[in-house]
Amino acid sequence: MTTVVQRIRADKPVFSVEFMPPRDKADEKRLWNAIRELEGLDPAFVSVTYGAGGSSRDRTIRTTGRVARETTLVSMAHLCAVDHSVAELRNVIGWYAAMGIRNILALRGDPPGDPNGEWVKHPEGLNYADELVSLVRELGDFCVGVAAFPYGHPRSNDLDSDTDNLIRKLRAGADFAIAQLFFEPEDFLRLRDRVAARGYDTTLLPGIMPLTTPKILSKTIELAGAPVSARIAARLDPLVGDAAAFRAEGIEIATEVSQRLLSEGVPCLHFYTFNRAKATREVVGRLGLVPSRA
Ligand code: FAD
Repeated sequence: MTTVVQRIRADKPVFSVEFMPPRDKADEKRLWNAIRELEGLDPAFVSVTYGAGGSSRDRTIRTTGRVARETTLVSMAHLCAVDHSVAELRNVIGWYAAMGIRNILALRGDPPGDPNGEWVKHPEGLNYADELVSLVRELGDFCVGVAAFPYGHPRSNDLDSDTDNLIRKLRAGADFAIAQLFFEPEDFLRLRDRVAARGYDTTLLPGIMPLTTPKILSKTIELAGAPVSARIAARLDPLVGDAAAFRAEGIEIATEVSQRLLSEGVPCLHFYTFNRAKATREVVGRLGLVPSRA
């Protein structure tokens, strides 16, 4: 199977999409409608998240496997070390391999229940994501990605030690990194500069989520771990009472941010979809990233 890195190193910019494993039948239908809708736009790869502590383990394995088996898409599975022994992690990695998955996003994950709660290592598990990168590498010919944080990971003391951690993951064998959500293109570009200043030119993908509703804006603030920029707040805040206008402006902002990133040579934009295709479809269509037949 093709690797993520092979797909990203295309002669033109591409986009990729992230889904969550479905919780029930209705969710599954929505997810597969979105996958089929986006398949025709030829995303570089499709990733499926992994519930902390293995809460979604079977659903993530099943969904990534089905994407690999039944679609034309390149499939990437997320894997979190939290609350797993090394033996369990080996088992999940084995399942991914058996399903034909060659791409894994190696993460530590957050403590289940309270993501900001105390980190407790599984007695026979791993402490940090770089150890998971090494484990995945040891177990097969996988293409491995890791997480990066434009504003620094919430548990990092400062941006310097946060960058040290990303470099540790790259040294452990990660082929690329996907950035957590951010607001301004410069926030992502500064992260890229910090990595380059350490002598690494690894492939770094920005995470993009069109701010189509006030709820999605709140979720983005939570995930980014930073407040919305004054510039974007000034554009969205006055539209909170007008759903259509808010959505249109959110799509416009995502398009502008993406355009700026593409002009800075970013090879691939990674869209967080929440299992819906429409907003991603609109933005990549405006950016001209879709095949001409679509
Ligand atoms: P790590 O890289 O291990 O870092 C965790 C913290 O430990 C950081 O503060 C780091 O600086 C510090 N650290 C690392 N190594 C050391 C060391 N040797 N010494 C001291 N400190 C160290 N979560 C899910 O549950 N499921 C998902 O599918 C999922 N997908 C994600 C996808 C992306 C693109 C991103 C950006 C995040 C995703 N997350 C997911 C969230 C992620 O699991 C959390 O952000 C988690 O808190 C950190 O994971 P990590 O892999 O970055 O951890």
